[in-house]
Parts: sequence; C-alpha cells; structure tokens
Amino acid sequence: MNKTEGKLPLIKFENLAGIPGLFHFITTRAGGVSLPPYHTLNLGLHTADNSQYVRANRALLATETGIAADKFLYASQVHSGNVLVVDEKAIYNGMFSKPPETDAMITALPGICLMVMVADCVPVLLFDPVRKVSAAIHAGWRGTVQEITANAINAMVRNFGCKPSDIISGIGPSIGPCCYEVGEEVNAIVAKKFNTTKGYLVSQQNTPKSHFDLWYANAKQLTDCGVKPENIETAELCTLCKPDIFFSSRAADGITGRFAAGICIKE
Ligand SMILES: [Zn+2]
Repeated sequence: MNKTEGKLPLIKFENLAGIPGLFHFITTRAGGVSLPPYHTLNLGLHTADNSQYVRANRALLATETGIAADKFLYASQVHSGNVLVVDEKAIYNGMFSKPPETDAMITALPGICLMVMVADCVPVLLFDPVRKVSAAIHAGWRGTVQEITANAINAMVRNFGCKPSDIISGIGPSIGPCCYEVGEEVNAIVAKKFNTTKGYLVSQQNTPKSHFDLWYANAKQLTDCGVKPENIETAELCTLCKPDIFFSSRAADGITGRFAAGICIKE
C-alpha cells in the first residue's frame, strides 16, 4: 500500500492505483476536526459524534480528493449480505438524499464515489477495468459469513457482464487474524457456513480463543468466484494493532469514529 502526502493522508492499493480512469483511497483517522473519542477524521454520521464535525470531515475529504461533496455515496450499513446496484434510476429515486440500507454497492456510473465506513470491519474495493464497474463492500464477520464479497462479484457478473478474471480487488485495513478473537457462537456459524474452519479460524499464542481471519475469508470468496489470486491485494494492516492510525471499535469499546474506503470512476 502507498500513502499520500496531502494535508489529509490517504492510503492506496498499489494494484488499483495503477489503473487509468480510476480513483480510490482509504482514509486514516488523521486530518479531521472531531474531538476524542472520535478524533479526528470521523466520517460516520451514525456515530454519536457531533454531526457538524462529521460533515466538516466529509467536506475535508471532498477537498482533498477533488470529488464534489454531493458525489459521495455513503450507505446505511446494516451487516447484511445485500448488494445494491447504483444506476441512474436509483439516483433519480433519491439514493443520495436517503442513504440506502445495504453493505455493498456497485456502479458503472462515472463521477460517483462509493463509500464504505469501517472501524474493524473489512472494506473491500473491486474494479473491472474491462466493463468499467466499481464496487465498495462492508464485510464484518456477519457480512463475511453471508458471503457479501461473493455476492458483489456475482452481482457485477449478472448486471454488467463482468468476468471475475478481469476484476482487480483490494482488501483493506481491518481487525486482523492477529487480534480478532471470536467466541463459540461465531466458531459454530463459521464451521456451518463454510463446512470447515481451516484457514478461517486460526489460533494465536497466549489465548485459547479462536481468531477469525476475515482477510482470508474474503480473499477465498474472491478466488472461489474466479478472481485471480494475483489480482487480490490485501493491506494486511490490523486496526486493533494500530488504533493510532485507524479507528478500531474493539480498541475503544465500541465508542469511536469510522474511517472509510472510497472508489470513483473518473468522469
Ligand atoms: Zn492485530
């Protein structure tokens, strides 16, 4: 991953950064105006932060990226496996004025920045440079076991004729297999859903609890759909290990801000 030097630092996947006509980024918690415990670049309007600060942070992101503030599409994320197609009709029906309840969005429309907000959940970005279709996915453990990343690929195929072998993908910073302890209930759901826990649940030193490897689980969904392994870039940055750089819900007992990943086909 690369980091930009602007006033508001942004991180980029190397594979997506190399594609002409595409702009993407991942924010950190630096460069914003929110006060503790939301300091500083909290982009989540659904948090208990002062909404004026969040709106100011969103405006700072618009300035930094050069994308108009009203072109950022933030969903109302609900830990579902649902994928929404963002097309002219959906926009006409008011998607920008009332955030859609979904956890993945795909579009072929240039100029619209699909956003996914996270603080330990995995942000996944996809782009098909042949069909010119982008996707932004919010994959926490619930979305991951509902196979939201596979659902997004399938929706790109179904709605836009994308070939998975063309799709370039980035798996962003989230709580990593180093830190993501899960209990018996999640263990059982993982075992049932994937018919195995191998690769999905890993053990770590000094704790008897299983750790859910969300990076593996989402990469596996991509390769099972036909995405080439060499076209998957995993940031391998753990939010709980780096709470000074990213918002981590676990590091803050749930009271914290949200950083975001965004993807925008250039006009
Ligand atoms: Zn960690």
